[in-house]
Amino acid sequence: MTEIAALVQESDFHSIWMVDSMTEGKEKVSVYIVATHDKSSAAFVDVGSALGVPRLMSALQELSIAPTAVRWIFLTHIHCDHFAGAWALLENLPNATIAVHPAGAYHVQDPSLISAAYVGLVGEDRFRKHYGSVRPVPAERIHAALNDEQFALGADGRLSMRAMHSPGHAPHHTHYALTVTGAPVGTELRHPVLTPTAGPLPPTGVAAVFPGDGFAACYQNMHKVGPRAAPVFFPQITTPFDVGAFRAGVDMVGRLEPAALLLPHYGMVPWQADHPAKVHKTLDRLLALVPLTDPAPDVQDLQMEMLCMVPAAARSETLMEDFEVVAHGLQAWHAQNKRK
Ligand SMILES: [Zn+2]
Repeated sequence: MTEIAALVQESDFHSIWMVDSMTEGKEKVSVYIVATHDKSSAAFVDVGSALGVPRLMSALQELSIAPTAVRWIFLTHIHCDHFAGAWALLENLPNATIAVHPAGAYHVQDPSLISAAYVGLVGEDRFRKHYGSVRPVPAERIHAALNDEQFALGADGRLSMRAMHSPGHAPHHTHYALTVTGAPVGTELRHPVLTPTAGPLPPTGVAAVFPGDGFAACYQNMHKVGPRAAPVFFPQITTPFDVGAFRAGVDMVGRLEPAALLLPHYGMVPWQADHPAKVHKTLDRLLALVPLTDPAPDVQDLQMEMLCMVPAAARSETLMEDFEVVAHGLQAWHAQNKRK
């Protein structure tokens, strides 16, 4: 049997695994499980659709993490590919609470508006196929996470998750940073999918940032592209999109200098100081595709332009689907910002 959960980072104090939630297809939406070293306390970051929840539960079993050990489900934002299955996962985790941006909490409690908006966009059939059903979550199991709020994972206080509001990709978007405190200097941080090791924990102790869609997509075939094997990032512009807040969210990640980025779309990317600059540059190029005068370019033209922006090795069906979403986002941005 192949393993469902892939170990992406560990130290003497924590482990992080990635699970392909299979939401919207294979290798599109990563869900992360964070646990203390003794697995007595664990958390999820994002969920994917309800259809993937049996996979997430199998992953816990595979990892010998008791469902009762899961205390938190951290939601980066309330888009269906990230949160739709939260209600179903919660039903399996008796001690878990959902942490979400205060502006998203209402939608987790009553997802009818969000669901209706998605159905309007993609149609009922595609909605059911991708997200299954989206049901309300009782208010007492939702925690509105404040900006800069810290969530302790485990009793010894070494491991904590910090919520940081980042309303660029969506008004209810939150970055999460996993911090290890009190670890001896030189504590080794291992990234088992890389060789041989990621080196010591960074001095600030931020082992990983979960930036949701507030940084960029980097699918598996985009992780090591070109002669220098550098990742290719593609920022996810949606509707509504706040360019200034998005850029601030990207810079926020830069200031944290995490050892690794754990992206929902898709997988772990080891940190390099020039990552934020790359995202800003691609965002500049995307915004330059849309003149601030009428008419706005049509969606197909925008998609073609985006295709030309990425190296051949980085192209995929999955990225093409993102281009469509980004093109609609750019059109909405044009409508908002064009000169009257
Ligand atoms: Zn999103």
